[in-house]
Amino acid sequence: MKKEKVIVIGAGLCGLYTAFLLQKKGIEVLILEANTRIGGRIKTITGTTAVTMEMGATWFGNQHRHLLEVLHILELPYFRQHTKGISLFETMSFVPPQKFEISDSKEPSFRIVGGTATLIEKLVSEIGLQHIKTQTKIIAIKEQNNQLIVTDSSGSSYSADKVISTIPPNLLVNSVIFEPKLPDNFTQLAKKTHTWMGESIKFAVEYKTPFWKQNNYSGTLFSQASIIQEMYDHSTADNSGFALKGFLNGGTAVLSFEERKEKVIAQLTTFFGPEASDYVAYYESVWREEPLTFQPYEQLVLAHQNNGHSLFKTPLLNEKLYVSGAETANQNPGYMDGAIFAAKTIASQF
Ligand SMILES: Cc1cc2nc3c(=O)[nH]c(=O)nc-3n(C[C@H](O)[C@H](O)[C@H](O)COP(=O)(O)OP(=O)(O)OC[C@H]3O[C@@H](n4cnc5c(N)ncnc54)[C@H](O)[C@@H]3O)c2cc1C
Repeated sequence: MKKEKVIVIGAGLCGLYTAFLLQKKGIEVLILEANTRIGGRIKTITGTTAVTMEMGATWFGNQHRHLLEVLHILELPYFRQHTKGISLFETMSFVPPQKFEISDSKEPSFRIVGGTATLIEKLVSEIGLQHIKTQTKIIAIKEQNNQLIVTDSSGSSYSADKVISTIPPNLLVNSVIFEPKLPDNFTQLAKKTHTWMGESIKFAVEYKTPFWKQNNYSGTLFSQASIIQEMYDHSTADNSGFALKGFLNGGTAVLSFEERKEKVIAQLTTFFGPEASDYVAYYESVWREEPLTFQPYEQLVLAHQNNGHSLFKTPLLNEKLYVSGAETANQNPGYMDGAIFAAKTIASQF
């Protein structure tokens, strides 16, 4: 059995930044990640043209000061979301959408140059890939002789003095067996803790040209009547790659990929004209079908419910198990900023 001082479960933003901070303190860390992919809810895909598209986390603002601080430390540039031009708001399917313009004075939202995954890539290069073990799904955590024994789905075990889980709380208590059992009040709380964006469907349509901008549209669209509920221009910072990207109505998870794609292209063609049907590729991520993010709730849980709850502050299993992740932060929980804040909170206790 391998012996590690600290094990971090999950190589999303919170797990990676926690490891980064602990390493700076000279602490030996091993990150165990179930997926083949590193990044968790940060998932940037690259198109066949020069465009990168965010299937997960994208935007942040000036209020997200913990994230901004990290971008500054890691020297990662960011840019303002494009909103200039005519935006559309569709209230009813049988009435044309209302046109409006977003004022420049509105508090801006930003995107990371090159895509949010550059933040993940930079952290991985700082931590060292050798400290991250992917395809390692943790299924059990057991307290034994003042250590925690962490077991993965292949039966391999790892021993640590302390374990920091960054698995979203509802998923954690539904997918990992603890010995001894975690306190009932904690388990009940975790089951009622919302995983931010877990139910969402993100889509992106890649184009050769930004025809919407050429026709004086911003690419921003809100709809209460069609499949696309919210959408923005997703051109790269240097305007070399072009896409439209946003969220689909969550109810369309029951449709097939092809059915959703057809409806998206039809809606875009109605709003922006026939050029919208001349796309390079259509992409989507149905997050409720991602078992390493989403776990159905036992009862109705509202957006952000119990995020940042005070019970997440107390380590469990005789102060050896820390439950972390964006949802546990008491500043901007659920967001990238929350993931950073949670990492800072836990790392400060070491
Ligand atoms: C569609 C979408 C859009 C979003 N948009 C924004 C946005 O615009 N702005 C913003 O600030 N935030 C946004 N977010 C939220 C943001 O992505 C999260 O706050 C942040 O990425 C969470 O990081 P985390 O490390 O806490 O959790 P996660 O990224 O969920 O990381 C948890 C990790 O644990 C791993 N894991 C799960 N189970 C196991 C197991 N049993 N064993 C080992 N590993 C396991 C997972 O694979 C994952 O890598 C969005 C999220 C989604 C899904």
